[in-house]
Amino acid sequence: MTAEIICVGTELLLGDILNTNARFLARELAELGIDLLHQQVVGDNAARLEKLVREAKGRSDLLIFSGGLGPTADDLTKETVARCFNDELVFEPSVMQSINAYFLATGRSTPKNNEKQAMVPQKGGWFANPNGTAPAVWFREGAKYAVLLPGPPRELEPLWSGAVRPMLQRDQQRVLHSLVLRVAGVGESHAEELVGHLFQSENPTAAIYAKTGEVHIRITAAAPTNMEAKAMCRAYAQKFYALLGDAVYGEGEDGLENVLVKTLAKKNLTVATAESCTGGLVAQRITAVPGSSEVFGFGFVTYANAAKRQLLGVDPMTLAECGAVSPQVAAQMAAGAQKAAGASLAVALTGVAGPGGGTEEKPVGLVWLGAAKGKTVFVKELRFGPRSRESIRWMAASAALDAARRLAAGLPIPGAEAWDKTEKGKP
Ligand code: AMP
Ligand code: MG
Repeated sequence: MTAEIICVGTELLLGDILNTNARFLARELAELGIDLLHQQVVGDNAARLEKLVREAKGRSDLLIFSGGLGPTADDLTKETVARCFNDELVFEPSVMQSINAYFLATGRSTPKNNEKQAMVPQKGGWFANPNGTAPAVWFREGAKYAVLLPGPPRELEPLWSGAVRPMLQRDQQRVLHSLVLRVAGVGESHAEELVGHLFQSENPTAAIYAKTGEVHIRITAAAPTNMEAKAMCRAYAQKFYALLGDAVYGEGEDGLENVLVKTLAKKNLTVATAESCTGGLVAQRITAVPGSSEVFGFGFVTYANAAKRQLLGVDPMTLAECGAVSPQVAAQMAAGAQKAAGASLAVALTGVAGPGGGTEEKPVGLVWLGAAKGKTVFVKELRFGPRSRESIRWMAASAALDAARRLAAGLPIPGAEAWDKTEKGKP
């Protein structure tokens, strides 16, 4: 099935609002396995809209419209598409009743204008809109379909998900199942290199989404039953696991912090944090997880050198010789936090979050990670490059959470050096 999206509204052409409906609908169509061939925006002008609809109908099976279903004279999508699909609009009393009820609930009487919204296709059909006054309508002529949705996203999205999407799925006689793999410690381009060939598949489809500090891979399968679609997703996920290994930290909704707290709880371990450039962000993300008090009790925010010395016992000589942003200080921060908290594990971060303060030797985006477990402390250099302060801090926190997750699960930390904790001033 081939489709086109047509968004109607002069405000879109003027750039007054962002066309988020096109993005939403495009993603949904991709998930349904419907080929989207064109996306267009047209102003509130009947003649131009009609020309466009006839063109689109000539070349595609399904036309999806957003906008222009309002009560005012410039809202003409329904009337125009009805003409192009050789259908008529008829007054539907039950729609009028729900429009009246909608206005009554908001303490107003129905304006005369809104009667226009109770007009529905004679041959096609309509779906009631629980979040507004304009119902969604559809037209059909031969094998060609048009679906018209109201412009406000809070009306369009529920109508799509609740009524239109199920109708299209029924037509295709198949169900969809999706699985999201969450990947940490591997950038988008590196992930593309490793598993890029897996994104070529048609069913299941797989797509990669770059997030700050992590990557998500969505696998979607279509099959006659949910069980089959699920099994297809699982089998395809195995191909990703085989290539990405333990960089896949979880599936579904759980973020790094959730997976970390679960892993610590399962292994009966605790973690402490020592943070300089992230100012408590790691602790904040851990404590955002319900039940984290079982595994987390101490988070040190040691922004100044004095704090690093007084709270974590970082050696003043090391600070003077190596500077605060150094592997030696990261190692001592982690070891100090582990000791002060009496925790099984500790992670530490010290770096240059910018925008100022970078030097040639220690540029903005350089962060040292320390991670202590038992008698060993791991140090790892992170180079995030000159990006925003906010994303450097977020990515550093994610790296620390991932390191803690790995230590808790007994996994190695890729790219980290292991030091004996007693070797404080190791070069
Ligand atoms: P309409 O259905 O044309 O009366 O649109 C009503 C309102 O929906 C507009 O004023 C916008 O706020 C919103 N809207 C319309 N089209 C879009 C779109 N493509 N993306 C996001 N919002 C939209
Ligand atoms: Mg409009």
